[in-house]
Amino acid sequence: MKIETLAIHAGREADPATGAIVPPIQMSTTYERDADGGYARSFSYTRPDNPTRHALEACLAQLEGGSHAVCFSSGAAATMAVFSLLNPGDHVLAPLECYYGTRQLLREYLSRSGVTSDFIDMSDAAQLEARVKRETRMIWVETPCNPTLKVTDLRVAARCAHSVGALLAVDNTFPTPILQRPLELGADIVMHSSTKYFGGHSDVMGGAVIVKDAARAAALHAYQAVGGAVPSPFDCWLLRRSLSTLPIRVRTQSAAALEIARFLRQHPKIERVCYPGLEDDPGHAVAARQMSGFGAMLGVCVRGDARTAMGVSSRTRVITCATSLGGVESLMEHRASIESADTLTPQNLLRLSVGLENPEDLIEDLDQALRG
Ligand SMILES: *Cc1c(COP(=O)(O)O)cnc(C)c1O
Repeated sequence: MKIETLAIHAGREADPATGAIVPPIQMSTTYERDADGGYARSFSYTRPDNPTRHALEACLAQLEGGSHAVCFSSGAAATMAVFSLLNPGDHVLAPLECYYGTRQLLREYLSRSGVTSDFIDMSDAAQLEARVKRETRMIWVETPCNPTLKVTDLRVAARCAHSVGALLAVDNTFPTPILQRPLELGADIVMHSSTKYFGGHSDVMGGAVIVKDAARAAALHAYQAVGGAVPSPFDCWLLRRSLSTLPIRVRTQSAAALEIARFLRQHPKIERVCYPGLEDDPGHAVAARQMSGFGAMLGVCVRGDARTAMGVSSRTRVITCATSLGGVESLMEHRASIESADTLTPQNLLRLSVGLENPEDLIEDLDQALRG
């Protein structure tokens, strides 16, 4: 089945008890044991297994083209679950530019468990090939990356990882499986912050890990059950509901982002637009090969400094100045000021998450904010 059909039907069946076509939310934390003490109906307690979470996991596995999905209470918890597959002495090759919390987890927490990391420019294939080591057990890639939208060649990253027996893990939050399919390009693990496009309405937190083999899924499921960072049944239900419109939302937002990128690029108050959909963007050729659309995230560098950039984001009327992304409402944020002092994010960069408003209104709003 095609992805639009899966988004609506995967993991969704009419309720056998009532015929309700919308599955009920199973809020129960505990389940009745059989007379012989067993659990023939396969549910015992909601931390290890919950029917509403199973429905969400079944849908996500099919959308990403994996065999299993394991859901968590946030994207960060999902990232931590992927890192739980590592052992002391293992080495991780990670991006210099990626979601800030991922770098923090590696530098401040995984380092204490004896996992070492090197951070490199993943958009440079030569660096990737040169910096992979015999002890490397995982390459972590985020493409296009946050917040500069640099692109990593996933086929090259997969080849490098597999040449030393390492896993390729991809944070696919920005493009979603609608625009980029890492498991088909050689990745072993896909991670998502479901808080973003999966939820799509800025009202639910979640994370997911999707894999293509049963052994790895079992290890992740065990970590989920024992670690306990599970999403609530209501959050799972909301996410499953939102996924039905994922293809249409992501493609519409992505098309609007390209229009906005083209408008901004020729604007006199703009120094540079980071967006792989622009033909002269350094990541365009690789992105065009491995994505079916370029996504709805833009890095917008204004002419000026941090103050100029913050001035622009304070003047928008339709676009809200707030963190996060992937919702139906457009959001803009000055990233450098909420990252640490050693951030590599340019001081004049505003990150724009293009929502589902009419792009003409967004362009008009940006124009008036830039003119001051
Ligand atoms: C938001 C985000 C995360 C972290 O997810 P949370 O749901 O906020 O924990 C990880 N990676 C990317 C690319 C993100 O945008």
